[in-house]
Amino acid sequence: MIGCHCPVCSSTDKRDQRTRCSILVSYCGKSVLVDTTPELRLQAIANKVDLIHAVVFTHGHADHIFGLDDVRRYNTLLGSPLPVYAAEATMRTLQQAFSYAFTQQTQTGVYRPELEPKIIDGPQEIFGVNWQAITLPHGRVSVLGFRIGNFAYCTDCAEIPAPARAMLQNLDTLIIDALRPRPHPTHLSFSQALAIIDDLKPRRAYFTHLSHDVSHQDIEHDLPANVRVAHDSMILEIPGASLP
Ligand SMILES: [Zn+2]
Ligand SMILES: [Zn+2]
Ligand SMILES: [Zn+2]
Repeated sequence: MIGCHCPVCSSTDKRDQRTRCSILVSYCGKSVLVDTTPELRLQAIANKVDLIHAVVFTHGHADHIFGLDDVRRYNTLLGSPLPVYAAEATMRTLQQAFSYAFTQQTQTGVYRPELEPKIIDGPQEIFGVNWQAITLPHGRVSVLGFRIGNFAYCTDCAEIPAPARAMLQNLDTLIIDALRPRPHPTHLSFSQALAIIDDLKPRRAYFTHLSHDVSHQDIEHDLPANVRVAHDSMILEIPGASLP
């Protein structure tokens, strides 16, 4: 956090250096980026994300969208427009925030992202694999969580309501919002996330979207063995990923 010198912000443990949250989902030779954070460019260079084939958005908050301009580099590398998947309200936010990228190209030579907008309004197939969109509450907005085979990603949510829980059974791996120990109006706290994990019983779960309240090591110290804390550059293999 800017201007903060707390033990977590000054920690030398790399896992405490938390940029904004995003994941890259790779299968069948394709890579799909979930959200474009303001640190996208630095994250892509640090993790050698040399190519992506599509972007999927969870919601339109600033910490999840403001790196979108930088995907223009992937247009160059890919030699084609980039499909961008989002719910209708999120797409509207993107079109307002990045109007220059969505309007008809008027000047030649303007280097901007070339996007192919695709609205998610139900089960979405991306490169032959079903991305089940799961609507989650996040204060005034709705967020999409995603289930892909036996893996699910649920960031930025204040609760996992019953219909969503029904879609999150029999998971191998769940990544779930867990902001901090104290309650927050639009995010899950550690204990709320743990109660949901206990109910859904994935084989393993990872906390994401952490604040600077507690160090990586101290959080993990108090967690059950099958619940860990995600960190920048973490790579997860999903065993037996039964992709439909
Ligand atoms: Zn701090
Ligand atoms: Zn948010
Ligand atoms: Zn967020």
